[in-house]
Amino acid sequence: MKRVRLVMFGRQGAGKGTQSKALARHYGAPHISTGDMLRDAANDGSAVGLKAKEYLDAGKLLPDAVMLDVIGERLERDDVVANGFLLDGFPRTLPQAEALLDLTPVDVAVNLEVPESLVIARISGRRICRSCGAIYSTADPPADDWTCNVCGGDVVQRDDDTPDAVAARLEAYAEKTLPAVAWFAERGLLVVVDGVGATEVVTDRLVSAIDGRLAHVGG
Ligand SMILES: [Zn+2]
Repeated sequence: MKRVRLVMFGRQGAGKGTQSKALARHYGAPHISTGDMLRDAANDGSAVGLKAKEYLDAGKLLPDAVMLDVIGERLERDDVVANGFLLDGFPRTLPQAEALLDLTPVDVAVNLEVPESLVIARISGRRICRSCGAIYSTADPPADDWTCNVCGGDVVQRDDDTPDAVAARLEAYAEKTLPAVAWFAERGLLVVVDGVGATEVVTDRLVSAIDGRLAHVGG
């Protein structure tokens, strides 16, 4: 199996997390999601991890320099050296994209493209169990009157998933992250994949596009 170094982009609600996990399995590369990585770093007691923990405990966003230290340390681990990586949730800005390429080469960046209107419908229909975190939707509700099938907890809409909150996140993505996506495109590193459809169908599309790009770079 060829080592792949991959960056995933996509609007919130595009299915990026689900597809990242599927691609990580397919390519045998570690799935590095920034949320998980920060929690791990904060728990491992390293100097970089402790620095990250200060910000997390204060509920603050990490400055780029600290974030890059955490990522730099993660990218040096054996599993990444042997199997590459699938980076999910970073970079989010153009300066972060530039800094990432100073740390490591990237073979391919993927833009999982789902129209804003569909993403808004998906997220605003999402409902979540307050107790166990199980996810439902207005199209696929629990069997019994918004009571969780798994644990019996209340199934509700998160404050983050209201139309206003979703619109704010989409605007931030367009303003901050799309310039990073464009930057990868200018370097010939971007593939754009249609994210509309059944999960397995989209995964197959992603694999074809990524394999095509890897064959093109030939190494
Ligand atoms: Zn539940």
